[in-house]
Amino acid sequence: MTGTIRTVLGDIAPEALGHAQCHEHIFLEKGPSFLLNPALRMDDYALSLAELKAYKAAGGSAIVDAQPGECGRMPERLVRASRESSVYIITVTGFHKSEFYTAGAFALTAAEDALVARFIAEIEEGVPCKGGPCYAGAVKAAMDEGGINRDSSYRRRFEAAAEAARMTGAPVIIHTEKGADAMEALRFFMDRDIAAQRLIFCHLDRTRYDAAFHVEILSAGAYLCYDSVNRLKYISHAQELALIQAVIAKGYPAQLLLSLDTTNQRLRAYGADMGLDYILCEFKPMLLENGISEEECAMMMTGNAARALSMRAVS
Ligand SMILES: [Zn+2]
Repeated sequence: MTGTIRTVLGDIAPEALGHAQCHEHIFLEKGPSFLLNPALRMDDYALSLAELKAYKAAGGSAIVDAQPGECGRMPERLVRASRESSVYIITVTGFHKSEFYTAGAFALTAAEDALVARFIAEIEEGVPCKGGPCYAGAVKAAMDEGGINRDSSYRRRFEAAAEAARMTGAPVIIHTEKGADAMEALRFFMDRDIAAQRLIFCHLDRTRYDAAFHVEILSAGAYLCYDSVNRLKYISHAQELALIQAVIAKGYPAQLLLSLDTTNQRLRAYGADMGLDYILCEFKPMLLENGISEEECAMMMTGNAARALSMRAVS
């Protein structure tokens, strides 16, 4: 396996990653996201730490905290909680949907060059963090309805994300939305020398429930993160399992990732009826009962993430 994985605390060997969930939220500052949805706030250090410790006790080893800067990322807490829980945390640079920023935010207004410089610095030198460093290990790029060309700000942010990924070798984590064409993002990054194997498409299990479409993305070499596990308002267990079975049957168990995309409504420590350990404790038995093998579970929960999150050598 090539490269290393860049956690908030520094680089680790991919073999050390262990069970990983590639789209989670463990800390989220009160801000514009909270105003849109009160579930989008997890800023109690003790509660989030308890959740990470329970995850570790259940066999969890790593998470991606998928909130970029200026829209709720909490670097000091990520660093401290990673140290105190021994869970590897990967944080992201890049950008989210415009609605998650306050007006005038750097991400919305900065020129492309300035965005590129910011994204690269967050990966190579770390994100601003008291008591840091806190390195970013992936570039997030969020597609809204209307896609990359929705407006000039999105276009600029996508170009900057691609350039930062190209310059650093970091993987790209792509938020998809209903009405946004994942294929457009696949082509966009591939046209800019980012191999499909470096792309992780999130949320397609809820934004476009269509195994044939998923297979098209997978056949290019990209990873799909099914991160709506137990989000029953979006997708039932039967549907999630059917999707996984269908994609595995087409030959792609080595490109699937499983995650929960947690909010405070989906973390036991914050009062919910499930925790970050749900995949390990509840969903894995369902996978096994539904004909998914131990080996395929290990791929989806461990080996695939180790490859997908690796930094590539830059030529
Ligand atoms: Zn998310």
